[in-house]
Amino acid sequence: PNAVIYADNAIPIHGVPGTSKERTFIAVKPDGVQRGLISDIIARFERRGYKLVGLKLLVPSKALANEHYADLSKKPFFAGLVDYMTNGKAPVIGMVWEGPAVIKQGRVMLGATDPTAAGPGTIRGDYCLTIGRNICHGSDSAESAEKEIGLWFGGKGEIVNWTANNDEWVVS
Ligand code: ADP
Repeated sequence: PNAVIYADNAIPIHGVPGTSKERTFIAVKPDGVQRGLISDIIARFERRGYKLVGLKLLVPSKALANEHYADLSKKPFFAGLVDYMTNGKAPVIGMVWEGPAVIKQGRVMLGATDPTAAGPGTIRGDYCLTIGRNICHGSDSAESAEKEIGLWFGGKGEIVNWTANNDEWVVS
């Protein structure tokens, strides 16, 4: 209802929720990278028709992981979670995907946080077993997407606005 149509060069880096320019932050965590699942996870979003507008491989700093998971800082598993994300045994793939309802649908595609509750056909339901090694992350709301995209892709030029040749067949 509050959708604003932006000129292509004026899309905010976090996108425009509720439009075909909605954006979310999706990550392949170190266990997903270590297990060779990057390509599968990318392929699922790409084949569905979502557009990749940001992509990087990095070992996140402790400051980045602490901020990313700030809401969980009081949880008993927090220190272990930050260590798992930042210890450098494998890097993280950070991505920004764009398209209709990508925040909600990204979460559906990932599956439940606890893989023992994730349905078959979801990423977690197909590839993992425990909540401490659930291989992927996706923003859970427009507010989280805005925060996380800004945090992981704050640098100038790290998000690319582009037109896919098949847009008229996918998002019209
Ligand atoms: P999601 O990643 O689905 O948004 P949460 O925000 O609740 O889920 O948790 C963030 C991450 O913290 C989870 O994906 C998982 O890696 C880790 N985590 C959550 N709960 C636990 C737990 N009980 N034990 C270990 N790790 C957990």
